[in-house]
Amino acid sequence: MDKLSPERCQQFLEAAATLCPDGLLAAEASGLIVAANPAIEEMLGAGFDELLGRRLTDLFPTQMEDCVQHFLATGVAQPGSPLRHMCHMSGNLVPVKTIVGTTPLPPDHLRVIIVKRIPDDNGMHATLIKAVLDHALDGVAILDENGIILSANEACETIFASSAAQLESQSIWSYIAKSEHGLPDPGTRTETMGRRSDGKAFPLELSIADASTAEGRFIAAFLRDLSDRQMHEETTLAKESVERTNRARSEFLSRMSHELRTPLNAVIGYAQLLNFKFQEPEVQEGTRSILKAGRHLLSLINEVLDLARIDTGRMAISLEPVQVSLVIQNAIELITPIAQESKITLDYRDGTCLEEAALADRQRLLQVFINLISNGIKYNRPYGQVTIRCELINDTHVRVVIEDTGVGILEVDRERLFQPFERLGTQVTDGSGLGLVLSKRFVELMGGRLDLLSSSPQGSRFAVDLRRTSMPVLKQTGPGESRAPRPTFERQLRILYIEDNTSNMKLMEMILSEWRGVSMIPAVQGQIGLEIARTHLPDLILLDLHLPDMPGEQVLRLLKTSPETGDIPVIVISADSTDNQIRRLRDAGAAEYVTKPIDIRQFTMVVERVLNLAH
Ligand code: ADP
Repeated sequence: MDKLSPERCQQFLEAAATLCPDGLLAAEASGLIVAANPAIEEMLGAGFDELLGRRLTDLFPTQMEDCVQHFLATGVAQPGSPLRHMCHMSGNLVPVKTIVGTTPLPPDHLRVIIVKRIPDDNGMHATLIKAVLDHALDGVAILDENGIILSANEACETIFASSAAQLESQSIWSYIAKSEHGLPDPGTRTETMGRRSDGKAFPLELSIADASTAEGRFIAAFLRDLSDRQMHEETTLAKESVERTNRARSEFLSRMSHELRTPLNAVIGYAQLLNFKFQEPEVQEGTRSILKAGRHLLSLINEVLDLARIDTGRMAISLEPVQVSLVIQNAIELITPIAQESKITLDYRDGTCLEEAALADRQRLLQVFINLISNGIKYNRPYGQVTIRCELINDTHVRVVIEDTGVGILEVDRERLFQPFERLGTQVTDGSGLGLVLSKRFVELMGGRLDLLSSSPQGSRFAVDLRRTSMPVLKQTGPGESRAPRPTFERQLRILYIEDNTSNMKLMEMILSEWRGVSMIPAVQGQIGLEIARTHLPDLILLDLHLPDMPGEQVLRLLKTSPETGDIPVIVISADSTDNQIRRLRDAGAAEYVTKPIDIRQFTMVVERVLNLAH
């Protein structure tokens, strides 16, 4: 600098002041501003002319006046009171860092201030905080120390159903239930009640944080609307309670069904044997009546159990491509004797869907058709007719219509038609009032619909709509034989039956005594059964699950894990028919699972199949 001439030095200083990114101000000791560089002009939004001739105190907030005066008077900064803000022409405060000093040159020692602008952190923070708060899920309100709301975010507006303008300058106690202790301590959460602008109360969680600044004491209140949580808790509780009730009901029904099936096994089993054995008309008539009543009872138990399974979501449906016309024919075959007995003509027309396949559970669909056709027979007039028609209604569905010439269903009864145990009008025929509700639920589980299309005193039309599929149909097995089963085995076979119920044991003895080349070894306890299996190595084991000394399932596992008996096929015979149970026992190694009451014909086929596989 020394090397420069005073003129050039002057030029240099002017250029430096112009280029300097920091603001430069010079004032006389009186406070009159005499010089300012472009940076300070920009910082304060004021032109050179506006700055020149003003007082230095005008550029600082009033709180800092003393500090400015001290500087003007002494030429140095007041210790501990930095000049932190300057006033922008717009009235806003600009955060700054200042370095103050005095020119050494007489006569009046100019006061010089270098002003560094602090990056507008606060502004950025404020924008950021506002963005965060406005998107926060919880309500955040800033209160003054008296609980007056100074600002509220958008969530607060939603929570209290009031605009921020309505909330601001109101006491927080207008919106939340006043506690005698006032606001909770910072850092703790309390649950209280809030009130919306319409006066509705709702549960609210409140927590507090101290948000005091140099400008005073402030409180940040965090508010969370608990209505949803409460509703969720209430629905979860209600759901759990429904599930518990359903489970209990389902367990009760499954137990009941077990208790009822066991004696029915004896009733139906012996009646079948008597019916096969004695051809005298009185015995035939009597046994047929017992079988009819027994089977009715059995189907009732099965229906109640099915309904309970559907209600509790435990009904396992196995969907596969099924040729609809074959299932209809199957149902007609099974039902023709009843139709003939009731003098009702069955008329079946394939329509356009002879080859049509639908996605369905074959067994359940058969049950649905049997039910609808037999209703058509039961609720018909003498010499009436039931017409079954199959038609393609659109690209996605195939429809089976079952139409009768019966008495019809009154419009007012439509609703009750699909309610469990509802039977309409005076009932002349036997029934349970469960068939239609079950059929409807089954079809719905298959993704289809079952409806009453129309009804008049001339008859009713029911429709079953099923989802069409282009997948190939698996081969269907034909209906069972109609003669008494009497299988013959080429070699001598020994069958071990582990069962504690003597009447069931005797029944099995009688069934097997009809079979040539078969002898039965009885065991009334699990342990005895295991020993006999080991010592006699029978060709087949029939196993009951409810044994007095150990669960049948355990017997099965021991048989299957022992090297001596592991290969002997085991058929479980039980009154429990839950799908889970059947799956579990099959997984444990059961070759087959037969449910009581035993259908002798079916049982015979199962034994033949198992023994053929085994040898
Ligand atoms: P169920 O036949 O065992 O009584 P359903 O659930 O199959 O039970 O039918 C419920 C009731 O609906 C029947 O009791 C009967 O009153 C009425 N109903 C069902 N199908 C017909 C029909 N095709 N014509 C007239 N009434 C019917």
